Order: sequence, then C-alpha cells, then structure tokens
Amino acid sequence: MLRPLGDQDLRVRVAGVGVCHSDLSMVNGTLRPTYPLVLGHEASGLVTEAGASAGVPVGRHVVLNWAVPCDTCWHCTHGQPWLCSTVEGSTGTPGGTLADGTPVQACLGLGAMAEEVVVPASAVVPLPGDVPLAEAALLGCAILTGVGAAQNAGRVSPGDSVLVVGLGGVGLSAVTGARLAGAERIIAVDVSGAKEPLALTAGATDFLVASPDLAKEVRALTGGRGADVALECVGSATTIRQAWTAVRRGGTCVVVGVGPKDQQVSFNPLELFHYSRTLVSSVYGNSDPRRDIAGLLDHVAGGRLDLAATITDRITLDDVPAAFERMQRGEGGRALVTFPADQQEER
Ligand SMILES: [Zn+2]
Ligand SMILES: [Zn+2]
Repeated sequence: MLRPLGDQDLRVRVAGVGVCHSDLSMVNGTLRPTYPLVLGHEASGLVTEAGASAGVPVGRHVVLNWAVPCDTCWHCTHGQPWLCSTVEGSTGTPGGTLADGTPVQACLGLGAMAEEVVVPASAVVPLPGDVPLAEAALLGCAILTGVGAAQNAGRVSPGDSVLVVGLGGVGLSAVTGARLAGAERIIAVDVSGAKEPLALTAGATDFLVASPDLAKEVRALTGGRGADVALECVGSATTIRQAWTAVRRGGTCVVVGVGPKDQQVSFNPLELFHYSRTLVSSVYGNSDPRRDIAGLLDHVAGGRLDLAATITDRITLDDVPAAFERMQRGEGGRALVTFPADQQEER
C-alpha cells in the first residue's frame, strides 16, 4: 500500500517508466539500498489526486524528478543542486507498506515501477499536453543525464570532436547531447556492433566496436590529437582509462557511468602533468531538472530531439527482469514499461 497523501503530495498514475542501469545496480550489488524496495525512477504520468497545498492540478501530465534539491544546503545555494546534500547517497525513501505491514522503500523517492506513486509535488515537472506522455519518462533520467553530461559537464562546443563510450540509454542520449551542442565529429563506441544503427540515429558520425586500440583509432579520426571531450558512460576502470587516453592534450574526460568501489583507475604523475586533461564526473547530467527539462522540451517541440529514438523495447512490468538480462548482455537501447491503453483512458 502506498503511503498516505500529504498536503504537499501528489498521486500520479504512471504512464511510462524506463528501465535504467541504476535500477539494475540496486539489485546486482553495485549499489546497496534498503529492501524491500520498489524500483523505478525514470517515469511520467498523470496527476490523479493532489494534496491541499501541492499546487499542481489533477489531470496534469508530469515527468518525475528523482533528485529533488532542498534549495537550502551549500551546494543548492551555490548553483549545484545536483550535488544537494539531502539527495546525496540516498537510494530510497519510505514509500508505503506490504500487505503484512512491512515498510517498503521507494527507489530514489519515486518507486515508479508501479501503476501509481505518491510523491512530493516538488518531485514533478509539469509537461505540455502534446508531448507523448509515456515516452516523456526518459526526460527524467536517461535524456537529462546524457544530454547534461555533454552540455553541462563536458561543455561540448560547436565544432568539437566528442567520444562517447557505452551506448545504453544514457550513452545514446549523450550522443544526442553532443549533436544538440553542435559537435562536428561524434565517435560512438560500444562492445556490440549491433548498436551502430541506434548510434547513427542519435547523431553519431562514426561508430567503433570497443577494442584495446581505442585511443589510437580515435586519434586517427581527430587529426592525430584525440577527442576534445570524452563521455564515458560505462563506469568501469578500463573504459574510464581508455576514454581519458583518447582525449587530446587539454581536453576533458567526463565519467558518466556509475561504477563499483572495488576497481582502481591508475594514472602516472608525468602523464597527468603532460596531457593537462580535465577529469570530471557528471551527476544527473549536472542538471537542475526544473530548468533543464524545459530546454529539452524546446528541442522536442523544435523536432531536434525524438523522445522515442532510443526506445527499443516496450514492455510490461512483468518483463522487467528480462530487460535487466538484455541490459547485462549489452543488448538494445532503452526498455520502457507502459500500461495498457484502456487503463490509460479510464484515467
Ligand atoms: Zn536512471
Ligand atoms: Zn540541497
């Protein structure tokens, strides 16, 4: 049973919820949340009930935000709400109870792999009525994270060469982000050659199958220098090291993937000095969803961003374990859980 609706809460009927790698990380041991836990944090839906002071009307289409900034901590008041101390390290919040009364956690405060959720009004961003509602789920994680990694963390500029390593939902969106930022050359890399068509649709100009010679291959495509910006969307020591090595002197390598604690990335002091590269991470695309989703919606309205471009599987809740297996095998783009159309119309 969901927690009771508070004054500032909304009840949202979920229309679409994406299967994100972070959901897998919460069941495979990379992240260690409290169980029982309802997964799901990339979602959109329809407001069906609003608390007295929630300020969002019933009937509004919304996308959910899994990192609601507190607006009062040091990072929030210094322009970095994605590093909000309230959100830091949080994998869930109390979301309700099982039939026997056992408390249930809601993944990242949302727990959106469910037909409905109760969330604070601050965790929704209203959507225009003409945006496809189920697909808009991706604005809440993959697209915001990937586009933000290119634009906010990597500061991709017009004419840049950009390397993107790892083409899951976030990596493909990072390719899109590089394209939207005006990158001239976008080199997309994955262990699976089957990702090439998705990469080219997202905006890649070149596709490479991952190999130990990646840096050499990237230099061959970038006038011998290396990429201006690399966006590493895997989160493993090997790919971080490869991406960093493939960046030109003075370029930027962005760690977008969330990796484990039991690996080490090594650099020697001379190369750190000589190459003068910047190594940064991207947390939720270094985005403020309240500001940056509006920018993404402008791209959608202008036909520059296709919300469905990375969706390769439309599934039901029962199919989520199979989607995790495909993800572990490195297959496909985003899997989106949707709900039967008749159920949507009743709403
Ligand atoms: Zn996610
Ligand atoms: Zn804060």
